[in-house]
Amino acid sequence: MIIVIDGPAGSGKSSTAKEIANRLNIQFLDSGALYRAVTYCWIKADKPDIRSFINILPEVDLSSEYIDKTFYVKLNGDDITNEIRTQYVAEHVSEIATQPEIRAFVNNYMRNLVVDDAYIADGRDLGTAVFPDAELKFFMTASIKERAKRRLKEMQETDASITLKDVEENIRQRDQKDQSRASDPLKKADDAIEIDTTGKTFDEQISKMITIIENKTKLNH
Ligand code: C5P
Repeated sequence: MIIVIDGPAGSGKSSTAKEIANRLNIQFLDSGALYRAVTYCWIKADKPDIRSFINILPEVDLSSEYIDKTFYVKLNGDDITNEIRTQYVAEHVSEIATQPEIRAFVNNYMRNLVVDDAYIADGRDLGTAVFPDAELKFFMTASIKERAKRRLKEMQETDASITLKDVEENIRQRDQKDQSRASDPLKKADDAIEIDTTGKTFDEQISKMITIIENKTKLNH
């Protein structure tokens, strides 16, 4: 069973999905973290041309685990949970994520993972391309200013030199790339429920979504 939350960078998907996972006692899956992990892998491999990188993808050993509000990601056995949050990875991830073979690799990983547990996952194309039959779909939005402010807070934990302007610019570019790519672009599914979080408190938005989940699925807290 899977519930998906799609939306642009910084719209609050991950923190919302984590909170809902904790309250409903289900698993959390962060698809953006998986694209970041593949990007980190490409950087570590000295940024080969993309075709050569795609050829070595079958040897890449990716794993993930959600424990205590943290989505841990491992690459070839090494924990890269913090490394994938750097600005350098953020600057390259949307480019890497445009490649259909890389999307197929990440999608395959996710589809295999969710077979025997209840999950809430966040991403860009989960409701449209990856899990079109998801039990419930949300699409979260917020103004770009608000999204940049939220992301800045998160990024300053690993990089104190980052500014609001850098983050806003990065988000703008990622939105543009995510919406315009040919392969599974960021798009609201026709049957997704839209949640605009601009000006809403975290608690207000969580309560609203939990009510919807309890009304539309068998889950409850
Ligand atoms: O969610 P997060 O901002 O960590 O995602 C990082 C990047 O991964 C996004 O900007 C997007 O380019 C890519 N992504 C994607 N499809 C998803 C999730 C993330 O293309 N389902």
